[in-house]
Amino acid sequence: MGAGVGGLATAVRLLSKGYSVKVYEKEQNIGGKVNQIETDNFKFDLTASILMTPEVYKEVFEYADKDYRDYLEFLSVDPIYRVNYSDGTRRDFSTDITKLSENLESISIDDCHGYLRFLGDVYKKYQIANNFFLQRTFRTPLDFFNPKILSQALRLRTLSNSYRFISKYIEDENLRKFLCFQSLYVGISPYNGPNIYTLVPTISQIYGLWYLKGGMYSYIKALERLIFELGGTIENNTNVEEILISEGKAIGVKTNTNKQYGDIIICNADFPYAMNELIKDNRWKGKYSSKKISEMKYSCSTFIIYLGLKKKYPDLTVHNMYLG
Ligand SMILES: Cc1cc2nc3c(=O)[nH]c(=O)nc-3n(C[C@H](O)[C@H](O)[C@H](O)COP(=O)(O)OP(=O)(O)OC[C@H]3O[C@@H](n4cnc5c(N)ncnc54)[C@H](O)[C@@H]3O)c2cc1C
Repeated sequence: MGAGVGGLATAVRLLSKGYSVKVYEKEQNIGGKVNQIETDNFKFDLTASILMTPEVYKEVFEYADKDYRDYLEFLSVDPIYRVNYSDGTRRDFSTDITKLSENLESISIDDCHGYLRFLGDVYKKYQIANNFFLQRTFRTPLDFFNPKILSQALRLRTLSNSYRFISKYIEDENLRKFLCFQSLYVGISPYNGPNIYTLVPTISQIYGLWYLKGGMYSYIKALERLIFELGGTIENNTNVEEILISEGKAIGVKTNTNKQYGDIIICNADFPYAMNELIKDNRWKGKYSSKKISEMKYSCSTFIIYLGLKKKYPDLTVHNMYLG
């Protein structure tokens, strides 16, 4: 259930394994948060507009024995960030190491050195995170609480906040701000939250930032095409009202039109909503009772304005930041 990027990619994987797959989507359009509006000859990506780690996106196609190039065109964003500060300075961060060093040396040799050390250290963390956490499923407490995983978790040293962590490498206040603001993407203050979000500028710097020709929605259209080629179906305007559970195992879904049973039921909807609304019997909610979910604290989201412009703004590039 759910034709967001997660549900669609999962459908591709199951189809590649030989399952017969049906995706139910409550909205008229597929894509979930990755969506698009087209009006008066302007086209807007609604949320995601650029991506990191393109390999993750390509891998879904490889999994299905397809060449992603037959479906998508990745275009590099360079500079990865154009940062404008309140004192009027502007800095372009390029993936080209020569341009990057020129930019950083114009701040100071020490900060250029600090930035490169920062990249090296966070890169090492990324490798640990990737090998031991990001690519793993944690199903039981023992999957996490075992000596091997715990020792790797300690090596990540994520406890100090982003700003403090960055200050160990960098003197320049503007450069510090540039390297720590990314935790705001998930509504967390760089002055409080764990420093794990410093992975974001590091991964962008090392692996680049990318967009897709035609916008991010091209990825959704490509997955849809692949699902149809592999024999799957997608039913729009179909709201799943309940996940049917028997003896602790999900066995089907009740939609606004019928009941459907299957070997595997996968829920792509937001977790608190799904636990609250779709699992009716308290026995199967585990510790996620309605009370616990209503007491959860949510981080803030974003306020977005889509502007169709009649002129070009040469000072802007693809990815612009204005830091106060
Ligand atoms: C403002 C903003 C900007 C972002 N920018 C970027 C970016 O630049 N780069 C990037 O990589 N990521 C970005 N993201 C994050 C990215 O958009 C999301 O992580 C991603 O789209 C989540 O996909 P998903 O499949 O997990 O969930 P969703 O997209 O939420 O998909 C869930 C789907 O399930 C459907 N559904 C829910 N309940 C039911 C039901 N009962 N029955 C049937 N269907 C149901 C929903 O309609 C939806 O289609 C951004 C997010 C936001 C909000």
